[in-house]
Amino acid sequence: MSTLSRRDLLVGTASAFGAASCAPAIPDAMCAPYYVTAICPAPSSDGAAAPAPPPGGTSGCELFAYDEIERASPNAVIHPACEAELVDFFAALARAPGARTVTVRGGGLSLDSQSLGKDIVLIIDQKDFCRIERPGRDKDGFYMTVGAGARWWDVIAICARFGLMPPSLQTGGDATVGGTLSADCVSRMSAIVGKEGSHVRNFRIVLPSGEVVSVSRGSGDIRQQELYSAVIGGFGYLGVVTEVTFDLIAARDNANVRGPEPRVFTRATRYPATCDWDAVFRSLQSRSREGRLSYMKQKASYHGSSLGDGSTPPVATPEWSALSVACFLTGYSLEANLLEQRYTLDPLRPTPGGIYARDGSINAFAERVDSFWPTAAELVLDFGWPQGEFVDDLFGWAFFFGNSTKRAKADAHALGYRLNCIQQSFVLPSGPENHPPDTRPAQRFIELVLARSHAADLRPGPIDFLYVGDDDDTSVMSASRGLPGFVITLAFADRDRTTLRPPIDELLRALSSDCRLLGGRVHLVKNVAADRGDLRAMHGDAAKRFRELKAKYDPGGVFRNDFFSRVFEA
Ligand SMILES: Cc1cc2nc3c(=O)[nH]c(=O)nc-3n(C[C@H](O)[C@H](O)[C@H](O)COP(=O)(O)OP(=O)(O)OC[C@H]3O[C@@H](n4cnc5c(N)ncnc54)[C@H](O)[C@@H]3O)c2cc1C
Repeated sequence: MSTLSRRDLLVGTASAFGAASCAPAIPDAMCAPYYVTAICPAPSSDGAAAPAPPPGGTSGCELFAYDEIERASPNAVIHPACEAELVDFFAALARAPGARTVTVRGGGLSLDSQSLGKDIVLIIDQKDFCRIERPGRDKDGFYMTVGAGARWWDVIAICARFGLMPPSLQTGGDATVGGTLSADCVSRMSAIVGKEGSHVRNFRIVLPSGEVVSVSRGSGDIRQQELYSAVIGGFGYLGVVTEVTFDLIAARDNANVRGPEPRVFTRATRYPATCDWDAVFRSLQSRSREGRLSYMKQKASYHGSSLGDGSTPPVATPEWSALSVACFLTGYSLEANLLEQRYTLDPLRPTPGGIYARDGSINAFAERVDSFWPTAAELVLDFGWPQGEFVDDLFGWAFFFGNSTKRAKADAHALGYRLNCIQQSFVLPSGPENHPPDTRPAQRFIELVLARSHAADLRPGPIDFLYVGDDDDTSVMSASRGLPGFVITLAFADRDRTTLRPPIDELLRALSSDCRLLGGRVHLVKNVAADRGDLRAMHGDAAKRFRELKAKYDPGGVFRNDFFSRVFEA
């Protein structure tokens, strides 16, 4: 779609809706002040042309999930320009006849249908929502305030110049700050610093009543406490987040002064193919705990915050910032690679094979190969996965998955097919944090992953392990709340699917049931293929509390998305 002015779009909206298959049913009064598109995805706020819908997509209001399997044809797609417009929007919505529902969308990187909806989709991508302020410092340490539509790539481009980084960062550069807050994302850093939600200091939210509320971490106000715990990880079910302030930590000396961008040091240790899984999980948990305890001890130094007596300790960078295990199937077993990472200013010494290259071209190619010939991708990983010590570019490392899949998808689209990236994560309990870990549930789960994959003749791509504790985890819908454990993620690639390939669907459902029986929970952020009974058993109590809060803050049930409708409501 070519670039259109706001006015052109407003004038053209009625006829566009008339022509599109998705008939309007939006009262004029509501349409008038907003920038409305009938063709998806919309042009970006900087006026760049919108990418074409993936092959096999239709024109009109069609939105895809990142897996390019889930899709929706909403009645209208609206791009509010600013918070004040959102307030007007909800006032108009309250006057509109009939029950309307609203789905919020940021970068659209949800792998499943978390940001898809049938009626009105609000995309938070306009200029005012994408503003990024210079990092600041107060008694609580370094921080940054950005609009909820700011993309993480752009945010890092600013704060890294000042030698500052968010403590936890997911791997999609195009994801928005509001979108990842709403998913309470987990990351390679979570073993040490916890999940993203715990670093949110403050956010502003527009409720369906049109009221704008500023919500602060640690507030004594019950309303703010409720909103803080339910909006973070709440998948846009209570309101629209418009602005977020989050903590930053020092990633080099002289933090908060403009200077060189940090790089990332990786120490990769490869375990032999016949794995002692107990040793791998124990090692992951004990290193995570060590990193976590050291982080907690030195937190004030890393965050640049004051101590209780008002003094400020010297700023320091954490010894380790990220810890994870990446596993690959080899012909006969699963190999584990422990990855320990921290920020550095050492000269580049890139990881061989271009794994953390900024353009992600080798990974992109591997991703596409994986979609039709997983064994080839497996062999390359088996022989090519490096071990040793490396120093990589920050952006290549930080967004490695986003960089490679973005490129792989663009290449696939140019070749005329859709590339389906599918990921599902499971949290397996490891027992209380201050005790030696019980690795049996995670070990048993891995045995079941291997046995079930072999039986179904499926070859998952990477299988990643993280350890996540539960202190600071206050999000109502968090899969790891009150459940310290190992987060195990399975990935698959496929092509041109309109539903999950049945053996993959069956495998993920069976594993979800295994996870439940082992006392774990399916993580709600990525794809979720699980039977409703299992989900109810795993998340039922949280969903009950969440529903109570929804009834209080969104009594009309305005906010909806296809994901929650599918997994919890039907
Ligand atoms: C390449 C890639 C890498 C990823 N890496 C990780 C990872 O490392 N860790 C991890 O946990 N996840 C990861 N994910 C998942 C991804 O980070 C989450 O799905 C995230 O929510 C996407 O953010 P978004 O802005 O694209 O949100 P969208 O997909 O647009 O929305 C996500 C959810 O947030 C809600 N929402 C969006 N904006 C707002 C707002 N302003 N106010 C209220 N609600 C809102 C939506 O309704 C939806 O429920 C990855 C996904 C991809 C595709």
